Amino acid sequence: MSKSPTKYLFVTGGVTSSLGKGIISASLGKLLISRGYSVTIQKLDPYINIDPGTMNPYEHGECFVTNDGAETDLDLGHYERFLNNETSQANNVTTGRIYQTVINKERKGDYLGKTVQIIPHITDEIKKRIKILGDTGNFDFVITEIGGTVGDIEALPFIESVRQLKWELEYNALFIHLTLIPFLSAAGELKTKPTQHSVKTLLESGIQPDILVCRTEHPLDSKLKRKIARFCNVEKDAVIESMDASTIYEVPLLMQKEGLDKVVLRKLGLEDNTDVKLDQWCNFLEGLQNPKQNITIGLVGKYVELQDAYKSISEAIIHAGVKNNCKVKVNWIHSEDINDTNVGKKLSRLSGVLVAPGFGDRGMEGKISAIKYIRKNNIPFFGICLGMQSAVIEFTRNVLGFEGANSTEMNESTPYPVIDLMEEQKEVSEKGGTMRLGAYDCVISKDSKSYECYNDTNIRERHRHRYEFNNKYKSDLEESGLIATGINPKNNLVEIVEILNHPWFVGVQFHPEYKSTVANPHPLFVGFIKACIQNKK
Ligand code: GLN
Repeated sequence: MSKSPTKYLFVTGGVTSSLGKGIISASLGKLLISRGYSVTIQKLDPYINIDPGTMNPYEHGECFVTNDGAETDLDLGHYERFLNNETSQANNVTTGRIYQTVINKERKGDYLGKTVQIIPHITDEIKKRIKILGDTGNFDFVITEIGGTVGDIEALPFIESVRQLKWELEYNALFIHLTLIPFLSAAGELKTKPTQHSVKTLLESGIQPDILVCRTEHPLDSKLKRKIARFCNVEKDAVIESMDASTIYEVPLLMQKEGLDKVVLRKLGLEDNTDVKLDQWCNFLEGLQNPKQNITIGLVGKYVELQDAYKSISEAIIHAGVKNNCKVKVNWIHSEDINDTNVGKKLSRLSGVLVAPGFGDRGMEGKISAIKYIRKNNIPFFGICLGMQSAVIEFTRNVLGFEGANSTEMNESTPYPVIDLMEEQKEVSEKGGTMRLGAYDCVISKDSKSYECYNDTNIRERHRHRYEFNNKYKSDLEESGLIATGINPKNNLVEIVEILNHPWFVGVQFHPEYKSTVANPHPLFVGFIKACIQNKK
């Protein structure tokens, strides 16, 4: 669209964490895209890990994987789901990655003779990473979300970098600060003081926010907005109310109602002469809020206490539900709590069961008990990554009768290693960023449920694993009915297994959840939910 320079929107957060900077950034991105602009969103994370790939999901929630194989923050999942745009390694930068780059340069001698310091060396590297996306010339807007809360020691170099950038970019940058307006029930009042303090903290770092997005449980009246404007040096219409929403998918519409996109355009000197085309989004929301029917499915995993660990899976289920005009309730079932004795009680009333990805053997036997029950009782089954591997192990043990079959991840000396460490992984000793990561081709056989879903034989899906289906057992398994219906054409790895004489039994080595968006619900999730509806309990 416009040939004008890329505009940079920096999103910071104050008062508390978990205010939903990711959703606000994604919603603003969505509004700008619906006006015809090209937008990408980037997240800066102030921790020292190079990426979240080495973190436990309890620490950090899901690790989102991009097409180019970056292990990233789960907010990138929101960006992709809202914008229907792919992200890449460049969209997630951590303190660890910045320091690693600078220290490697120092060792190479790139700064020979100089003292290497946070300012300018670290801040220059941060600024370079922020501008990388804009420099591609592909985007009218780059939204950069800064993780954490202003005032955090860790975030200071990032804050200083965007402060400098604002001046370097002249009129092409804006600061949006997300803050909280708490309601004190004893006083019966919304309180603005924490917001004033958090803006003051930003000011101490030399940043004057242009727009305040105020999270609140109650509407902000005009008087309150004026007060916030006056004490935080922003225009009144740049005080944006962000009420708690019933679903994250409502937020773009709430932001549109508050005029967030209009204020952004005005402050950047862009004309507000483009229509916001949100029909498809509104249809999705309408479907989400007015389902024609309900079903309950189970999700068996070991991080069920923290549902952020399965963020993309839950969102993909929501997208697929809407596509099927159905509200899908998910029962989260801890795999450690399942055994052959109680499995019927836990699963019999569910319309379908998804067995989740995971690492290590905790809860593994529960997954196997669940799959045995699901297979025998014709309950629709969707296994993802470790869920697929568990299905192969279950089938080998209980249909082929190969006792003790396992993945070598769980038992190195299993007599039947039906899932084994990938050849290319055998020499790998470092843990960070060394799995089989990112998108790979897969060819699907026509006589399969997967083909019915994709309506295509050539697909590309994202991976994150070290272990794989052991082709030594392929013919035994296929003769007994577990068919490899998806194969990597380059190296013959089995990417999909199915039981064809079962209502819906599909296990995939890849992670389809990463590619489901509001605009394009993932075909396998859509097919799975459809099968669950047909099996409605
Ligand atoms: N732990 C298994 C592997 O590494 C599965 C990984 C996953 O579920 N993402 O192969």
